[in-house]
Amino acid sequence: MTTAIYDDENIFAKILRGDIPCNKVLENDHALAFEDINPQAPVHVLVIPKGAYVSNDDFTANASEAEIAGFFRAVGHVARELGVAEPGYRLIANTGTHGGQEVPHFHVHICAGRLLGRMIAHPD
Ligand code: 5GP
Repeated sequence: MTTAIYDDENIFAKILRGDIPCNKVLENDHALAFEDINPQAPVHVLVIPKGAYVSNDDFTANASEAEIAGFFRAVGHVARELGVAEPGYRLIANTGTHGGQEVPHFHVHICAGRLLGRMIAHPD
């Protein structure tokens, strides 16, 4: 089973504890959604689970069925509440070093509000 050491001092842990503020979009038993501080699209919202999971790898290996279902239902709910289910949006879950993950608390980006173009920009 995947093991990962969770850092309680990561920025999203501080947001969950209310130690630092966020522009909250939705909160329920399983998830907190808030606006990204550095938006990459007209709509850019982060959804994080309430539990202490480092990444998608950690979450999908170690979270309960209820946590996983509750979290992903919340992601869809947030997108609908934001009004972006149509014409659509992109979910991104950067995972680990090669995935470009900067904050070590599992999160999904919801990006929307314009045509988002190519999925991955190639360096060459
Ligand atoms: P990652 O690269 O880990 O997938 O994405 C982390 C995201 O967290 C980035 O898009 C970044 O702008 C956002 N972020 C970093 N620090 C803060 C913060 O203090 N507040 C908010 N709302 N977003 C943050």
